[in-house]
Amino acid sequence: GHLPPRRTVSGLLRSAHATYATLDDGTVADYIPSLAAADPGRFGISVCGVDGNSFSIGDAQDAFSLQSISKAFTFALVCDAIGHTTVRQAVGVNNTGLAFDSVMALELNGGSPRNPMVNAGALVMISLTPGDSAAAKWQYLQEGMSRFAGRRLQLDAQVYDSEAATNHRNRALAALLRSYGHMSYDPLLTTDIYTRQCSLLVTARGLAVMGATLADGGVNPLTHERVVGPSVCRDTLAVMATSGMYQRSGDWLYEVGLPGKSGVSGGIVTVAPGKGAMATYSPRLDAAGTSVRGQHATRSLSRSLGLDLFASA
Ligand code: GLU
Repeated sequence: GHLPPRRTVSGLLRSAHATYATLDDGTVADYIPSLAAADPGRFGISVCGVDGNSFSIGDAQDAFSLQSISKAFTFALVCDAIGHTTVRQAVGVNNTGLAFDSVMALELNGGSPRNPMVNAGALVMISLTPGDSAAAKWQYLQEGMSRFAGRRLQLDAQVYDSEAATNHRNRALAALLRSYGHMSYDPLLTTDIYTRQCSLLVTARGLAVMGATLADGGVNPLTHERVVGPSVCRDTLAVMATSGMYQRSGDWLYEVGLPGKSGVSGGIVTVAPGKGAMATYSPRLDAAGTSVRGQHATRSLSRSLGLDLFASA
């Protein structure tokens, strides 16, 4: 099972880009000051196959911060290090039905985050990351994410500073997790590492490679390096399917038929297991925090590229 022939893929990308570039619904995230400065008109799409073939259209080389998309890759790296069972016990795999930064979700669940794709779950994953200092944990994650991308990912200092100065809610979530006994590492240091991972810069083109590594059972299709094991990819795609699109994950799975993960800077990565991945960048978001053009383009391309997991033909 692979992607359609090269000319078919580039034609479909071109037409999806042209169709959805006219959508001006949604608003750029502004609760992190530096994200508010994003140009709302930017729009890029990239597809990368497990054979390493890649196709891009529009602003696919624009750099943007990973934000919540980082949660999927951290989950994979930590699962690979400490194992499926420990991770599942620590964070769970079910949707909260509530916003990504909900304090109520934690309170309702006796302090359990329920899944690694909400902020509370991502914070727990960082506390479980190998390394006996904050610097060592951060190095572990930055290097691991870079292996997914096939090149060294850099931190956007402006995004990091802006978020570090305003992330009171994330610090509160970490402190609350600590009080419930679910946070095994220092809550403030953990929040800082989380803020760093959210500030790593990618492009749609690079993000498609990261997704294609998950599609390829953990081997980067460009560098051929094994980043994580195949069962870890399978686990990661399963939680992306239940929880990758915030409280709208059910709508997403119903519409797109593929696991995906979005972030508030406007990126989305979507993975077709065994085939490849798609990444979109467009900063206008819906009310849950997912890119509007990205959702439409991904839904349309999932169908036209024949990737929908639930379609029988
Ligand atoms: N760094 C952002 C936060 O913690 C990520 C949110 C997101 O992309 O959903 O608020």
